[in-house]
Amino acid sequence: RFPIQRKLKLAQVHKQRKAKRKKLFISRVLAMATNTQDQQSQAGRHQEVGHKSLLQSDALYQYILETSVYPREPEPMKELRELTAKHPWNLMTTSADEGQFLNMLLKLINAKNTMEIGVYTSYSLLATALAIPDDGKILAMDVNRENYELGLPVIQKAGVAHKIDFKEGPALPVLDQLVEDARHHGSFDFIFVDADKDNYLNYHKRLIELVKVGGLISYDNTLWNGSVVAPPDAPLRKYVRYYRDFVMELNKALAVDPRIEICMLPVGDGITLCRRVK
Ligand code: SAM
Ligand code: CA
Repeated sequence: RFPIQRKLKLAQVHKQRKAKRKKLFISRVLAMATNTQDQQSQAGRHQEVGHKSLLQSDALYQYILETSVYPREPEPMKELRELTAKHPWNLMTTSADEGQFLNMLLKLINAKNTMEIGVYTSYSLLATALAIPDDGKILAMDVNRENYELGLPVIQKAGVAHKIDFKEGPALPVLDQLVEDARHHGSFDFIFVDADKDNYLNYHKRLIELVKVGGLISYDNTLWNGSVVAPPDAPLRKYVRYYRDFVMELNKALAVDPRIEICMLPVGDGITLCRRVK
């Protein structure tokens, strides 16, 4: 009897172990399926136009957009965002959360006389135009008028086009002209720089004269896709690699410039606020 009982016991243990392995297998398959679903929906979220969040979790970024940005986004900005989404270079646009940040910032500092370098289809320009008072001004520059004109009907419909003085062409000669005339010195409350990164330091040399003491110059994309901390052999897209050194050089220069106080924020692709102090 003893060997049969033992055999039965062994068979029972074997059966239990088999059931346990099956259960483990099923739970692993389920976990893999769920992860794949998560990754798929996360991949979908990466498609957000202007998605440049440096947040580690896309779900968290989506939460910010859906909870506090999209529900409060002014109708013209929503229209412009959707229009820009259809444009082939839409990756260049300012993200909706950064647009909301700029709008708030401009109101906080009571900005009236402003400047923008790098307009594209005008998402940040419209955020500015909606934030400043009716007699506020924006000197806006871009080498490309066509893209500015894409967004212009939305700006006109929003009733803020009269605040904008658009200049087509490279920004540097315009800044040189402004600097030549002492009346422009210290005359800008706010300046947003979002154009050719290899010129940011050249812009800074001029802008520091043009912004008022206590005013703000904001440099966009100062974390440059996170590439500022990428190892030298990291596989970076060509344009990211090309501009990376310029962005890093700018960051170093701003950090030691005694004429400004700075604050680097991980909003969008990184934005460095520089408050002129002397
Ligand atoms: N701020 C814009 C927005 O909210 O959609 C995005 C600007 S986009 C990243 C950069 C823009 O800088 C492009 O439209 C490009 O034509 C412009 N740009 C490039 N080089 C320039 C230059 N030297 N002077 C003025 N604009 C320039
Ligand atoms: Ca930008």
